[in-house]
Amino acid sequence: MSKKTPVTAYPEFLKDLLEAKSPTGHEFAAQAVVDAYVEKSADKYHRDTLGNRIAELKGKGGPTLMFAGHIDEIGLIISHVDDKGFLYFEFLGGHDHVIPSGRRVHILTRNGPVLGITGKRAVHLLSPEDRKRVPERHDMWIDIGVTNRTEALTIVRIGDPAVYADGPEILRGSIGVARAFDDKAGAYVCMEAFRRLAKEKDLAARVVSVATTQEEIGTRGAQVAAQSINPQVSITVDVGHATDHPDADNRKFGKFTLSGGPIISRGPNINPLVFDQMIAAAESIDIPYQVAAESRPTGTDARAIQMANGGVACGLVSIPLRYMHTPGEIVDLTVVEQSVQLLVAFALQVKKNQSYAW
Ligand SMILES: [Zn+2]
Repeated sequence: MSKKTPVTAYPEFLKDLLEAKSPTGHEFAAQAVVDAYVEKSADKYHRDTLGNRIAELKGKGGPTLMFAGHIDEIGLIISHVDDKGFLYFEFLGGHDHVIPSGRRVHILTRNGPVLGITGKRAVHLLSPEDRKRVPERHDMWIDIGVTNRTEALTIVRIGDPAVYADGPEILRGSIGVARAFDDKAGAYVCMEAFRRLAKEKDLAARVVSVATTQEEIGTRGAQVAAQSINPQVSITVDVGHATDHPDADNRKFGKFTLSGGPIISRGPNINPLVFDQMIAAAESIDIPYQVAAESRPTGTDARAIQMANGGVACGLVSIPLRYMHTPGEIVDLTVVEQSVQLLVAFALQVKKNQSYAW
């Protein structure tokens, strides 16, 4: 596919990842998708005790290059069932409290997904003061259409997780909308790049691509994967904020457009030689890109990976996204494809004796 051609349909692998319901710590469905698409391309493939999926290409004696994209997504976890059978929840990952009510959710039970509705008091019944207030978590509940606690507990168990029911659709042209582009898009980029690299003859680097777990609650899967893989260099692919909507002040958040190409980060979390190599890779394949300044450890797997073992040379590629951590996350599928091509180009540039010490 040409770099210039807009991508106006979901690649099957990405669609399957987006449809997999994989709240943090319960990544079973997304793991199964990665297993199905990636295992056969790998020289070695394994699973670890945090649920990471780790695919390896042996390479030709070069340094170990680790890709990391997380397959967990934000969700809810059932924490209490009241006498009438209404379910209360805690958050898995970061939620804006104005979002959860009035949604369809799927509760992942031992007998499969169960539909629920997130309820709260209707606007007509709110006092003028309450209308101005953001609801607290315990002001909301999940209604599964039962009449009492005993009945509810025949269907759900305490600790069952849930996700919003919204699946992937095309909004227009190459613009896709789904819940959990964060970070199924990034996991897809890492694993699709890996699948393409498996067909390359001149790959010096040992490439280890990881579908990481539990990123949304503190980059926990990446932390243990980086310790066990012990890479010299690593690229994390996550989503970043597109700031081209009406309520983003570019003075505060910088200027990043949805369709302007992958965002390449620069700052203390990023090895300067990796940054330079990433820019060279983007220019070698003639894709657009945007550069983000990150003043601190990033809120991504790169933060954990950089500090593993004796230190890892990290890079970060972010896919611009609007409305992060809502059921209506939006990305440009063309930028997702450009990001795959960027990782492939980067990996092929890693030389046998390459060092990232500086
Ligand atoms: Zn996130």
